[in-house]
Amino acid sequence: MATDDRCRPPVELAEPLEDEPVVLATPTQVLTGHQVGPRADAAICIGCGDPLHETDIVFAYAYRCAEAADWAVSRLYCFSCAPKTIKSPTLGTTEVVMGGRLGTIALPTLRTHRLCLTELKIRAVSPPTEGCPP
Ligand SMILES: [Zn+2]
Repeated sequence: MATDDRCRPPVELAEPLEDEPVVLATPTQVLTGHQVGPRADAAICIGCGDPLHETDIVFAYAYRCAEAADWAVSRLYCFSCAPKTIKSPTLGTTEVVMGGRLGTIALPTLRTHRLCLTELKIRAVSPPTEGCPP
C-alpha cells in the first residue's frame, strides 16, 4: 500500500531526535537565531527595563547545564547595562555573555515572527569547571 507523504503532519520538534547525528557547535553557532522575548516585538532589558527592538545592539546571558542538550537564554541587556563578566559562575554549567543585534525569525507554521539573536560575538565565558556549586 502506498503512503502519501503530503498528508503526514509535520514532525513534532519537541520530541527527542534520537536517530539524529550529534555535532559539536560553538555557543555562537547554537544561539544565532535563538528566539527571545515573550511575543513578537516584545523584549526588555533586565537591567533598566527599556524596550529592545529589532536591530538594537543587545547582550544575552545564556547557559547550558552539563547534562542538558539545550541552551537557555535567561537575560537580555541593552548596551549600557550589559555585564562585562560572568559575575557569579555556577559549577557544572557553561555560561556565556554574548553581544549582537536583535533580528527577526519567521515562524511559518504559526504565521508570525519573533525577535531573535543575530550577529553574535562572545563577551565573557565561564566553563563548567569554574564557580560555586548551585
Ligand atoms: Zn538596560
